[in-house]
Amino acid sequence: MAKIQMKTPLVEMDGDEMTRILWKMIKDELILPFVDLKTEYYDLGLEEREKTKDKVTYDSAYAAKKYGVAVKCATITPNKQRVEEYNLSEMWKSPNGTIRAILDGTVFRAPIIIDSVKPVVKNWEKPITIARHAYGDVYKSTEYRVPGEGKAELVFTDKDGNETFRETVYDFECAGVLQSQYNKDSSIISFAHSCFKYAIDTKQDLWFSTKDTISKKYDQTFKLIFEDIYEKEYKAKFEELGIEYFYTLIDDAVARVIRSKGGYIWACKNYDGDVMSDMVSTAFGSLAMMTSVLVSPDGKYEYEAAHGTVTRHYYRYLKGEETSTNPMATIFAWTGALRKRGELDGLCDLCNFADKLEKACITTLDSGVMTKDLVGLVSEGYEVKAVNSADFIASIRKNLEASL
Ligand code: NAP
Ligand code: MG
Repeated sequence: MAKIQMKTPLVEMDGDEMTRILWKMIKDELILPFVDLKTEYYDLGLEEREKTKDKVTYDSAYAAKKYGVAVKCATITPNKQRVEEYNLSEMWKSPNGTIRAILDGTVFRAPIIIDSVKPVVKNWEKPITIARHAYGDVYKSTEYRVPGEGKAELVFTDKDGNETFRETVYDFECAGVLQSQYNKDSSIISFAHSCFKYAIDTKQDLWFSTKDTISKKYDQTFKLIFEDIYEKEYKAKFEELGIEYFYTLIDDAVARVIRSKGGYIWACKNYDGDVMSDMVSTAFGSLAMMTSVLVSPDGKYEYEAAHGTVTRHYYRYLKGEETSTNPMATIFAWTGALRKRGELDGLCDLCNFADKLEKACITTLDSGVMTKDLVGLVSEGYEVKAVNSADFIASIRKNLEASL
């Protein structure tokens, strides 16, 4: 069979540890035999980041900006222990942080759903995609303990040195705590564009929630910016596709999410997104089944798994022990990227291949062949067999070949 051809290269960002091992297995078994793969390869493995003084991370992000579609393997974010383990000259920053800053993007996380693993919330039938505004608010706050009696004020001085605002926060009669937060219109605007674009892209409703009834300037700004951009730039397209933009209070959103069937994107402010994405992913099952895509406001895409490099499994692998690491989210990062490349370049064959590979993965899991992490989550009545990563991938390949 002739291999499927590509036009524009994918930006390929290789990574670390167990996911680096899976990366090669996925390419060798599930992609290279079928696709005449064109990639621009960047090795974001920690050793190469050290060797290039992290230049490789920046280069890969600029390549993603240039070509528009990237696929990324999980990477180590160095901490003190990693600095020693890898003998690093510096505690290099998180590659995801660097890439996100360069693309100015928003991360969308969605679970892969299979029949045999039922979400804890029984009525969830379709994925719930969470978009987190990963900028500002409490993550960039200034705070301190107030030592005792005294006045706390919020002051703004403009660039010419004029004091424009001075408001009393609280007249403290005793010790307490104080915190200030900020966000920027430019960042909220980028967030809004990424969300509207991704909703159109995936033909799903977009929900957005804040606490604007209480926060009449701060959260209200988020609400108004979204509303304005929607009305001016996206409303017509949403109506054409029959999808909805829906704003509601965060409390109401939480209640509705629990009662819903799923199948929409939920855009959240930074803290809400942090907390809710952990809740939603746990309720759906497993971190190993969580996909993640970074979407920039001008429509560039970087696909990856939501999980990390699965270090514990890697150390076992190095000792020659058999590992049963779940490659699903990493495979779906590849299919997401290949499909997007296919869409942008008008290559139906490539899109079809991505669909078929995803189907082969689901077929494999539905037949009861799965990695160990999923076995404990399977509902009663399903026969399952735990296999190692290599056998799992081999089984997917068989199902894929049967479908081509
Ligand atoms: P992790 O790699 O996601 O793994 C945490 C645990 O979750 C694993 O030990 C494993 O549990 C389970 N797990 C995660 N993915 C799995 C999979 N595909 N198949 C089976 N089980 C899976 O998180 P971590 O241990 O906190 O972080 C490890 C490294 O990854 C760190 O260096 C961190 O910096 C990096 N990291 C990178 C990214 C990224 O690049 N996007 C994201 C997060 C973390 P059991 O051991 O119980 O089987
Ligand atoms: Mg969290």
